[in-house]
Amino acid sequence: MNRHDRDRDPFLFRTEQLCKLYPDGQVHAVEDVNISIRRGEYVAIMGPSGSGKSTLLNLLGALDRPTSGDVYFDGEPLSRVKNVDRMRSQTLGFVFQSFYLLPILTAIENVQVPMFEGPLSTSARIARAKELLDLVGLSHRINHMPQKLSVGERQRVAIARSLANEPIALLADEPTGNLDSVAAEGIFELFAHLHRKQGMTIVLITHDEEFGHRAQRTIRMQDGHIKSDMFTERKKIRTPLPPFAV
Ligand code: ADP
Repeated sequence: MNRHDRDRDPFLFRTEQLCKLYPDGQVHAVEDVNISIRRGEYVAIMGPSGSGKSTLLNLLGALDRPTSGDVYFDGEPLSRVKNVDRMRSQTLGFVFQSFYLLPILTAIENVQVPMFEGPLSTSARIARAKELLDLVGLSHRINHMPQKLSVGERQRVAIARSLANEPIALLADEPTGNLDSVAAEGIFELFAHLHRKQGMTIVLITHDEEFGHRAQRTIRMQDGHIKSDMFTERKKIRTPLPPFAV
């Protein structure tokens, strides 16, 4: 173990007394949340509508700023990161319920969008986009426009796009909310694959109990608070994790 590893924060995400207050309605969307998520963990965030799940995920992903408290990403407080947009685009991948694909671009062009500002040449960018579409099972659809794809395929394109800049973690907000159960199954298999084979850290919001229980750990929220935080039973944890403190 070198010095860098020894000094490294063991948690990829850590929150300290995290609060988000929406003053217009005086809503405490997230209140005094302290959670820690290790590299390589697969975590489902669950809870009723309005319990603060999306707000928490957006705070973790630096898409939103807390009212008080802080998020530490890889040991660094986000409040002190100078260029949050750059940090986010270089380290995190996002998947949303609505796929947000650009309708005038083909699948392979959509996947390249996050790479346009990166260092890759055009040919390297195309090769990487092909690789990613192959990874998500869409090598036969690379030149399709989004409207010619099924909704499940559209979400696969969105997942390929989220992986474009080799993120450390994927944050997904109800990624199967618009999908039928067969397509949803495929998306959860894909997340499981990314976690198992690539060691991807995944934090995912889902309403679906069955899918939520496929994650290693389930955080349940209620009224802006963490109601429970536990390893999911009956889960085979293939990569044993060291004990963690919450
Ligand atoms: P969930 O993802 O669990 O459905 P949210 O994080 O979206 O919950 O919302 C938590 C609470 O914060 C809800 O009461 C919601 O109405 C409120 N809220 C979310 N976003 C805003 C906003 N932009 N302005 C005001 N209130 C908001």
